[in-house]
Amino acid sequence: MKTPLIGLCRHRLTTDGQGVTTLVAFHGCPLRCKYCLNAQCLRSDGVWRRMDALDILNEVMVDDLYFKATDGGITFGGGEPLLRSDEIVGFCKLRPVEWRIYIETSLNVERRHLEAVAPYIHHYFIDVKDMNPDIYHRYTSIDNTHVIENLRWLAEHEDFSKVTIRLPHIPNYNTAEDIAHSREQLEKMGFFDFDCFEYITPNGV
Ligand code: SF4
Repeated sequence: MKTPLIGLCRHRLTTDGQGVTTLVAFHGCPLRCKYCLNAQCLRSDGVWRRMDALDILNEVMVDDLYFKATDGGITFGGGEPLLRSDEIVGFCKLRPVEWRIYIETSLNVERRHLEAVAPYIHHYFIDVKDMNPDIYHRYTSIDNTHVIENLRWLAEHEDFSKVTIRLPHIPNYNTAEDIAHSREQLEKMGFFDFDCFEYITPNGV
């Protein structure tokens, strides 16, 4: 099946994943974040190309040597890449096994998507926004039930060293105290690698 993408980005160095990576960015996302920087993944006219797993492999194969020499590989992002779990699994079965697979996700999807890709993922970068359901809903327009359930599943089934949790300060939505509270909840679950940073807002507010 041909899947809509918003773009491919080559020659990324240690941004999210080790070595040289190519970002494969899928169209579509269940969230509606107020400060979304990838708004094209939400618009019907934001599709760059439609590709199946083999098309993507053929496109990214040009950097095979870089991936192998640097322990790099592919980062799936978007949009929400876990919505495309079938295509990710198809791609992972085709790609050279030396390539590492990274994923940038909100985890706000049905569990089956996470379970399907988990055997292939070397590292997860999870943007949880905020663990507080009210803050999360105000910022994304949907609830975070799937996020919490999928975090629990990861805590039971994955090595914590494979997970980086992104905890942003979201201007006008959460505070340093909220972030500390989210972190405390996540630490109780066993997660220990946190990336705390400031969201860039469209108007710099
Ligand atoms: S999760 Fe990312 S792509 Fe989706 S709406 Fe939020 S910022 Fe945009």
